[in-house]
Amino acid sequence: MTGYDFRSPRLCVSAPLEEGAAVTLDRGQAHYLTTVLRLKEGHHVLVFNGRDGEWSATIALAKRSAMLRLGTRTRAQPAAADLHYLFAPLKSARLDYMVQKAVEMGVSRLQPVHTRYGQVARVNLERMRANAVEAAEQCGILALPEIAEPIALTGLIAEREPGRYLVFCDEDAETADPIAVFRHLPPHTPLAVLVGPEGGFAEDERALLLKAPNVVRLSLGPRILRADTAAVAVLALVQAVLGDWRHEPDNQ
Ligand code: SAM
Repeated sequence: MTGYDFRSPRLCVSAPLEEGAAVTLDRGQAHYLTTVLRLKEGHHVLVFNGRDGEWSATIALAKRSAMLRLGTRTRAQPAAADLHYLFAPLKSARLDYMVQKAVEMGVSRLQPVHTRYGQVARVNLERMRANAVEAAEQCGILALPEIAEPIALTGLIAEREPGRYLVFCDEDAETADPIAVFRHLPPHTPLAVLVGPEGGFAEDERALLLKAPNVVRLSLGPRILRADTAAVAVLALVQAVLGDWRHEPDNQ
């Protein structure tokens, strides 16, 4: 992370990015840069699109529009991460927070999972996408996670990739050394992490999960954590023991 420019504003766009390109901003992006951040003609920003790395750019203002003129590429697009985060959807502000933290922790896919005691029936995927982009813009993240359609827990278990281990955060699990739990996984194991709803998992859901192959039951200590706290706790464990916290990837 040495030498990384954390000061310049970062903006996520959908357009392809290459040297000398001119990217026209939509109204929301132009408003953010010129009104919220009060940036002027010629000001420097960093821009990314989740595919082509990160580029330096300068603001060019016209009467009714704003655009970015691209300069050089400041960072190459990193290799895609491979960490799925599955969660019982929470109510709006907590869900916003949980999505942003999961992105900051480096997940590559977020998928809402409907469970018996879940309190949210409809999930606003566009809002989730906007939170994922905001977290990426604020934290220098170049890879944007996939936001998958919600699925019922039974469907998740039935449709899982056979080789992907599922780390099931179970508030009823006996407190055990979480590091040891992870250490027993084969190296470079594709992983998915599951955190339940504020109401916890139903007994039959727990039984279904524990019967499924490649499910790792995990205790997050002797205290009950709120679901959004559990998200940060388990993702920190995964990244520290098995993930990209153990070494500096070539390009963050
Ligand atoms: N209904 C539960 C209760 O009150 O006993 C609380 C559920 S907790 C608020 C939400 C989710 O966070 C749980 O389903 C689980 O996935 C995770 N979680 C919270 N505390 C945990 C712990 N100590 N160990 C493992 N998972 C935990």
